[in-house]
Amino acid sequence: MQKIRKFIVDPNPDSSQNGKEEFVVDYDYLVIAMGGRPNTFNTPGVVENCNFLKEVEDAQQIRQSVINSFEKASLPTLSDEERKRILHFVIVGGGPTGVEFAAELHDFVNEDLVKLYPAAKDFVKITLLEASDHILNMFDKRITDFAESKFQRDGIDMKLGSMVVKVSDKEISTKVRGNSGEITTIPYGMVVWSTGIGTHPVIRDFMQKIGQSNRRALATDEWLRVEGCGSIYALGDCATINQRKVMEDIAAIFKKADKDNSGTLTVKEFREVIKDICERYPQLELYLKSKKMHDIADLLKMG
Ligand SMILES: Cc1cc2nc3c(=O)[nH]c(=O)nc-3n(C[C@H](O)[C@H](O)[C@H](O)COP(=O)(O)OP(=O)(O)OC[C@H]3O[C@@H](n4cnc5c(N)ncnc54)[C@H](O)[C@@H]3O)c2cc1C
Repeated sequence: MQKIRKFIVDPNPDSSQNGKEEFVVDYDYLVIAMGGRPNTFNTPGVVENCNFLKEVEDAQQIRQSVINSFEKASLPTLSDEERKRILHFVIVGGGPTGVEFAAELHDFVNEDLVKLYPAAKDFVKITLLEASDHILNMFDKRITDFAESKFQRDGIDMKLGSMVVKVSDKEISTKVRGNSGEITTIPYGMVVWSTGIGTHPVIRDFMQKIGQSNRRALATDEWLRVEGCGSIYALGDCATINQRKVMEDIAAIFKKADKDNSGTLTVKEFREVIKDICERYPQLELYLKSKKMHDIADLLKMG
């Protein structure tokens, strides 16, 4: 019988909107799947001035803010300069989420909003700020090239090598790489911050308690058991699998495959254990695919 442990649940640790009281849940097994939270890298002014794109509520708020910007920009008392600022939409982060959002915003503005606010068309600007040299840099270069030229054609202003260092209520400051650290300040109407996810404070505290404080996510074994905690499992964005390496177990793999104890392996013997190996070490299948090999026999031919 497992010893029952307790987990303290704070329904919304970051605000008091959705429940204020902690409560305790007993457990035999605990599954942690709390996801992540927007990563601000502690950049000053981000929390106070930026929209995030993580929860459904964030998306609803963004939609409302975009429409509000068009409403505000329609006021007859504004100068053109102010109208331009209000209709300047800045997206920080050229990963999949930021790029998808920039493209969707461009379509929403050009296909829908310009019909409702025709006078605003000439004042709208969408800027994508990315700290590295390219957007979508985790993907194949052909995808990056396609997305960058599409954005150029669509008039989305990509500022590459631009690291945001501060956001105030009307201006966003970036440090331009390779330009002797020069800070450039851009007036904006709305910023969407989309630079990936970080660790929830609850998870960070827990990681500290179990000796994983130097990690970004909870480390588990391949059965999703949190390392060092027998009855706690973790998965999703808050966790990462510490995959065993094939070479760590190579002696055991060899022993199992060598059915006739001959001390050598035939391809047939290897083929018989390969299904188990691929299941236990999924990275092997990825490796074979990346080398355009069909199975382990191709790998052996290489050697
Ligand atoms: C805009 C956007 C687009 C994306 N597009 C894709 C895509 O196209 N393809 C893809 O594969 N992935 C995509 N992702 C990533 C994908 O959404 C995540 O990888 C996935 O949602 C992670 O699931 P999860 O269950 O780990 O965490 P989440 O989906 O974040 O769920 C965690 C849940 O835990 C709750 N929670 C947090 N803290 C507590 C607490 N203290 N107590 C109780 N509950 C808590 C949260 O409210 C939330 O409901 C996208 C993400 C975003 C933000």
